[in-house]
Amino acid sequence: MSIFHQMAGGDYEQLVFCQHRETGLKAIIAIHDTTLGPALGGTRMWPYRSEEEAVVDVLRLARGMTYKAAVAGLPLGGGKAVIIGDPARDKTDALLRFYGGFVDTLKGRYITAEDVGTCQGDMDIIHRETAHVTGCDPAGGGGGGDPSPFTARGVLYGIKASVKKRYGVDSLRNLVIAVQGIGHVGFNLCRMLAGEGARLVVADINARALQRAVGEFGAVAVPADAIYKARCDVFAPCALGAVVNDRTLDQFRCTIIAGAANNVLAEERHGHALRRRGILYVPDYVINAGGLINVADELHGYQRKRVDERVARIYNTVLEIIATSEAEEISTHRAADMLAEQRIKQAGIFKKTACREVPKVG
Ligand code: NAD
Repeated sequence: MSIFHQMAGGDYEQLVFCQHRETGLKAIIAIHDTTLGPALGGTRMWPYRSEEEAVVDVLRLARGMTYKAAVAGLPLGGGKAVIIGDPARDKTDALLRFYGGFVDTLKGRYITAEDVGTCQGDMDIIHRETAHVTGCDPAGGGGGGDPSPFTARGVLYGIKASVKKRYGVDSLRNLVIAVQGIGHVGFNLCRMLAGEGARLVVADINARALQRAVGEFGAVAVPADAIYKARCDVFAPCALGAVVNDRTLDQFRCTIIAGAANNVLAEERHGHALRRRGILYVPDYVINAGGLINVADELHGYQRKRVDERVARIYNTVLEIIATSEAEEISTHRAADMLAEQRIKQAGIFKKTACREVPKVG
């Protein structure tokens, strides 16, 4: 694998390898693009089978963050970090502190947060070594706390915008919404949907989580594999990625797919296939940006009102993306990418113009 070839292919700015022998730290930080601002993205700890797998993952995830921040209208670029190791076995305070030290050497070009395999407590430890971390204990000051309710709120706005577009109504009353995964986001989303009068069909591999949704919201529970076939208006994936794939594509009986899960489409071509089938897909990174909006606000002195306003903008962004997809006859995920690329390009032109005005030294 040629790393420079991969970086050039995706237009990556920087890839940083960090190791510390005594603690066993092996981390890779990828900075994709800082045109709009410093690169914000979580630190994932995962027992990658190879270094190559870790590099591929960190590059893919960092690029995704650039697009997500741009579409959410945040003054941030995209980055991500991975620590190679099993969080249950290899994660120690010392390892996290050395990792925090490496983050600090980047002087704010990369700002970290929690991700799969890391949690708020880990961010508190990293914070001892660097100021360039978000999602720390809100009691320690400045933090916005659990991002999941904000993610769920953004998904609700995205569902409402797509329902408005598809059915011409503002209300979700009596619409049937199938929610896959009743975890941190899914449960909050179910509560909001039930509050709006929607009828819920739910699935989860965790029987307790499922029963909670049945008991609290009168949801109808179905087996995990049956959720794709559920007759519904909206299918909201809030569990796993790649749920729109060759196996599930023909099973969907919904008219809209809009949920919190990352990487919903197994491959790009599945987005085109949904469009051909007349299913409106709301791109994952557009609709699930509420959590990012919440942690990003910590960088400017956390203000709940500002977060709520930014999350609410997801409604109009979704309408804009659907309008572009219709006008250009392209899939919605391509329309979302175009919006992100346009915002980055505009900012880049502005920066280059500003640079030309700086007199040369010497
Ligand atoms: P979570 O782990 O709290 O919940 C996931 C739920 O899905 C769990 O209840 C789990 O039992 C269930 N699940 C797992 N496999 C399943 C299957 N095959 N069928 C049905 N249910 C299954 O995670 P979360 O924080 O609620 O996040 C949900 C999704 O949203 C993830 O894909 C995550 O990457 C994405 N996301 C979350 C946030 C956030 O703020 N938490 C932000 C952006 C994106």
